[in-house]
Amino acid sequence: MEKIELKKIIPQWKVKSKVKKLGRKIAKDYKDKNPILVGILKGSFVFLSDLMRQIKIPHEVDFISVASYGSEKKASGVVRLLKDLSSNIEGRDVIIVEDIVDTGLTLNYIRQNLLTRKPKSLEIVTLLDKKQRRKAKIPIKYIGFRIANNFVVGYGLDYNENYRNLPYIAKMDEKKSKAW
Ligand code: 5GP
Repeated sequence: MEKIELKKIIPQWKVKSKVKKLGRKIAKDYKDKNPILVGILKGSFVFLSDLMRQIKIPHEVDFISVASYGSEKKASGVVRLLKDLSSNIEGRDVIIVEDIVDTGLTLNYIRQNLLTRKPKSLEIVTLLDKKQRRKAKIPIKYIGFRIANNFVVGYGLDYNENYRNLPYIAKMDEKKSKAW
């Protein structure tokens, strides 16, 4: 395996406390609404599993999986649906759960697609936000951390399918981040 330098940028305790805070806020905002959390695979599954346990009101969980056309790491905004939701979201309060919003192109596609199904409401929660690189304007209701323009891994985020198991967020070395 390629040797890669990682630098921890958000320690585990900070991730934990932020997830708790986001969960509490969502639980308060969605009391008596039985929302559906929609996780975008694969990256968001770690965040989603911790977040849902902090949302201490009744809610459901579903997943959607997409592949982005374009180079390995650069989203093009042209998206192919790999796995659709199992649930019907018409008339439901839906919260999309994302690990990181970068250009926003992927999320924009998913958001537009879900809106055609007429949910009662549709909001977004993301753990990480790289706002500097945004190309699509999307309303994000809940943001964990705003981060600089580096390629990050850990807590569900991968580099070539590795590092998803790190309990913290780390950035990759300068050379890799610049190429990104
Ligand atoms: P976007 O469409 O917002 O440009 O990118 C969406 C997807 O690209 C994210 O859901 C994530 O899978 C991937 N991505 C964007 N930035 C990073 C990053 O810094 N690290 C990792 N591992 N994936 C990223």
